[in-house]
Amino acid sequence: MRYQFTRRHEAGQKLRVSFEFFPPNNDGMAERLSHTIARLAPLNPSFVSVTYGAGGSTRERTATTLRQIMRETAMAPAAHLTCVDADRETVDGVVEEFAAMGIRRFVALRGDPAEGVGAAYRPHPRGYTNSAELVGALARRGDFDISVAAYPEKHPESFDFATDIEMLKRKVDNGATRAITQFFFDNDVYERYVERVRRAGIYIPIVPGILPVHNFTQMVRFAGRCGTHVPDWLAKRFQGLDNDPATHQLVAVAVAAEQVLDLVERGVEDFHFYTMNRAELAFAICHMIGVRAADGVRAAA
Ligand code: FAD
Repeated sequence: MRYQFTRRHEAGQKLRVSFEFFPPNNDGMAERLSHTIARLAPLNPSFVSVTYGAGGSTRERTATTLRQIMRETAMAPAAHLTCVDADRETVDGVVEEFAAMGIRRFVALRGDPAEGVGAAYRPHPRGYTNSAELVGALARRGDFDISVAAYPEKHPESFDFATDIEMLKRKVDNGATRAITQFFFDNDVYERYVERVRRAGIYIPIVPGILPVHNFTQMVRFAGRCGTHVPDWLAKRFQGLDNDPATHQLVAVAVAAEQVLDLVERGVEDFHFYTMNRAELAFAICHMIGVRAADGVRAAA
């Protein structure tokens, strides 16, 4: 297997990356994001996305971050947008505002209720019922590039994979052209999911969402809420590193690079990184897979 990878490597396989940021809520975090944007921009990502707080809680800050990206870099910005806890008029107003700023890419999401993940979701009485309806509204509004969420381990609220994939199909039927997955650590799970999706007649790219593990303990809590399985082997790798940030960081790069390189082996060419507004791990992993700043060439080298 390794030999096969080496050969692909030499063939100059083209890999593409995108990065996700969240809008900062204080000066320190804003400074960190600015550093991250400046560090990652030269890698020439396909796009960078900015998250949106459910219920519109980050509307202003999401817009500010999108403007910053457009002002300071040549990266293509994508706005996340949720429809939970908002009426249609409000959501449509956000679309108009972002479109007027020059946004052409959206990541259309339902979002979680204000009470948190796991609380029963109830559509707003005058709102879009779910992400599929939101996708339809965006597609009718204009010529947008629309991404949606996908769940290799199925969405925690979903009864089964069939229901989950049926929802993905509705999003695609309504105009989504790319799905970005929830983060996962078991590549077999991703591969099986993609097979299921293709069997259901869905042919859009299912871009793996990769979470470099900046803080293992926090990640485990987050994974529990998202329905992401944390394998024992992963826990063992980070065991005893809570107070050893330097080694934690090295292990995190090794783990994510191993995951990405294995996905490359399986034919994946696009990767979406949940950066948590930190540049170092994403940058190092990109370097390892040949996505480099030097001359803008994105072939594995
Ligand atoms: P939907 O696609 O509408 O539904 C999710 C799942 O719920 C479906 O797949 C289906 O299995 C089940 N379901 C829905 N309706 C029904 C039904 N009637 N019957 C049975 N099952 C049903 N959250 C934010 O707040 N802001 C963000 O910026 C953000 N960005 C994200 C980016 C990515 C790439 C991902 C993967 C998630 C993101 N989230 C974000 C989290 C997301 O909002 C939550 O996962 C939310 O719970 C579901 O959103 P969705 O768009 O997948 O919902």
